[in-house]
Amino acid sequence: MRRKMVAGNWKMHGSLQSNAVLLGGLHAAPATACDVVVCVPFPYLAQAQSCLAGTAIGLGAQDCSIHAEGAYTGEVSVSMLRDFGCSHVIVGHSERRAHHGEADLAVAAKARLALLAGMIPIICVGETLAQRESGATEAVIGMQLDAILHLLGDRLSELVVAYEPVWAIGTGRTASPQQAQDVHAFIRTRAARHHVDAQSMRVLYGGSVKPDNAGELFAQPDIDGGLIGGASLKAADFLAIVAAATADPGTI
Ligand code: PEP
Repeated sequence: MRRKMVAGNWKMHGSLQSNAVLLGGLHAAPATACDVVVCVPFPYLAQAQSCLAGTAIGLGAQDCSIHAEGAYTGEVSVSMLRDFGCSHVIVGHSERRAHHGEADLAVAAKARLALLAGMIPIICVGETLAQRESGATEAVIGMQLDAILHLLGDRLSELVVAYEPVWAIGTGRTASPQQAQDVHAFIRTRAARHHVDAQSMRVLYGGSVKPDNAGELFAQPDIDGGLIGGASLKAADFLAIVAAATADPGTI
């Protein structure tokens, strides 16, 4: 059985002061049957590591370099992330694909480095609105996935895929539970072509998940939790989403 997971993506938000309040609020998180992770901006890794010590909440980053080490000004390597206790790293977020030109092969290479460093990559895939409206959702996601599956097909039970329709990120417009489930089932079927382990691969949904829609989304058979942007910036909302991930689907 796949363990549910809820990961917060703070993006480029926060300050030493506001982080202390947010991280302090997360201490109220009960020890749950769900993996909980917060992915913070690089400069705040040390603060988050220290504030989360003694909790069951994992620490993650929002990107890593495609290089292990060297003359790459401004880049942050996976071993540096490990030094700060990171257990997870987001790779291939649509904002990085759109604003930094990250291509599928680079995303796969970053995920591979993360796994080699002993971290869990949270690999984002998703279609734009124009792609969905032209009926290209599966073709686009299939291509994004294939790069990952070719390189890491034998490590599916260790990595995490996040389906994040670009049109739902930060827009308040969420995929319906059925729309999300259909794509998650497609992702699992595509992965099964590459490896028998597809059933153990976790697939999160991301895109305007809030406390009031999380339960219905997480109750879908192929949705194993969420990657949460805006709602991860308020401890009460994030904890309510974590609670939804651990609720008995029969009660939703
Ligand atoms: C994200 O950026 O990964 C995300 C899902 O954002 P939001 O929840 O704000 O849509």
